[in-house]
Amino acid sequence: MLVNFKSDTVTKPSQAMLSYMLSAPVGDDVFGEDPTVNALQDKTAIMFGHEDALFCPSGTMTNQIAVQLHTTPLAEIICEEDAHIYQYETGGYAYNARCAINLVKGRFGKMQAGQVQAAIKQEYDWLPLTKMVSIENSCNRGGGTYYSIDEAAEIRNVCRDNQLAFHLDGARLFNVLVETGDKPEIWGALFDTISICLSKGLGAPVGSLLIGSKSQIARARRFRKVMGGGMRQAGILAAAGIFALDHHIDRLKVDNNRAKMIGAELINKGFVKNVRPVMTNIVICDLVEEYPVQKFIADLDAKNIQVVQMGPQAVRFVTHLDLNDAMIDYALAEIRKM
Ligand SMILES: *Cc1c(COP(=O)(O)O)cnc(C)c1O
Repeated sequence: MLVNFKSDTVTKPSQAMLSYMLSAPVGDDVFGEDPTVNALQDKTAIMFGHEDALFCPSGTMTNQIAVQLHTTPLAEIICEEDAHIYQYETGGYAYNARCAINLVKGRFGKMQAGQVQAAIKQEYDWLPLTKMVSIENSCNRGGGTYYSIDEAAEIRNVCRDNQLAFHLDGARLFNVLVETGDKPEIWGALFDTISICLSKGLGAPVGSLLIGSKSQIARARRFRKVMGGGMRQAGILAAAGIFALDHHIDRLKVDNNRAKMIGAELINKGFVKNVRPVMTNIVICDLVEEYPVQKFIADLDAKNIQVVQMGPQAVRFVTHLDLNDAMIDYALAEIRKM
């Protein structure tokens, strides 16, 4: 048995998803003529109470398009220092948008409204212009933590009062929604643009959506095209997204519960210094100095349990669709024995 906790991106399309993909009507999406892509875009726009949405190959692209929509050269984005936009997009904000980034040190990946307010720069020639705030929900490097709707609304108010665009990197937003019971449109109403990923816990092989107003999405299409993201018969991929949204949202609760079980097991171990609050499907723990993280990862690997390093002495476990009860029981038992 192989238990892969490396990421929720490792899931493979199920037979049911594959058959749905094969039966999808397709067309040329660069002409806007792929009915399945159009259906997916309409479905997600309506879900979040926005006018339009754009299907893209990755969440990096949807975030990078958002940065280009909301900033100009000599401007800056405010985000938390663990944000995907800063950590994992190859410095794309600078490359694609020629803007700067203003990092806030939050707690478990989350910024407070007061910190965002304090980070906004005054308008001097020698300072970049603050134009955009981006938050991540859930926060990957924070350990799958999430903002409450009230916390996000407070940041929204700071953005509104200072004419800043507000973007949500919601790669794993549905893992949050199944916990809080919030309706997607409540979240939709807070943001100018939202990025959601279909290829994380939702289990589609490819795809993300950028959600926003008609005019912003019309501009976004140009950015997608210039980044090489205009796809032709993309309905085959969009169909996987429709299937995932129809069948794989509610079950994310199972992933979240399994993550809590793993967190509860780890916290008992003498070699675990702390476990970050387990709020969704991610578990990040820091190990004591005496147990080097590379050794822990190798010891787990020897038992066919795969995890990744997330910082100098930290490891990350992510639960997902392709795990089952037997795998979780096995991993829990093996951790107990260590
Ligand atoms: C995965 C992820 C993305 C997008 O990643 P891609 O691999 O480019 O699809 C964006 N933000 C967060 C928080 C993520 O976890």
